[in-house]
Amino acid sequence: MAGSWSVVRCPACRNCHGTRGQPRQCPHCGQPLPSTTPIITTAETSAQLRIEVALANTPEELRDELRKKLESMDEPLVASSSSSPRALFTAIRKAVGDDMILRRSDVQTILDSHDSEQPVDDLLEKMELDGTLVRQQDGTWLLLE
Ligand SMILES: [Zn+2]
Repeated sequence: MAGSWSVVRCPACRNCHGTRGQPRQCPHCGQPLPSTTPIITTAETSAQLRIEVALANTPEELRDELRKKLESMDEPLVASSSSSPRALFTAIRKAVGDDMILRRSDVQTILDSHDSEQPVDDLLEKMELDGTLVRQQDGTWLLLE
């Protein structure tokens, strides 16, 4: 289905993540993913994708409860990351539309509005390293989780 998201499980580290189109690389362990990587489920929106990824990474017996919790939350699930302050991450999440595409200028705007001295590239690199972002060939970033 065009424009929809897939949740795939990395065969190497068993973590699930969202992807669009063919699986490429695991954001958790960096393994290249074969095009035959099984798709666990699909999502129509980035909000739904976040829920499905969280559920896929949760033991089966806890999923029902987690799903109820996630679906009742207005705020999207924020991944905990020690390297990027939560406020910035939340702002970045908000700046990204349903296409999950992040532009360098978006990040600059966010840093400015938080009075952050942190260089844009430092933040982008950190988020890239912890698997939150994937750099795309056209110079934008794809927000993964
Ligand atoms: Zn992996």
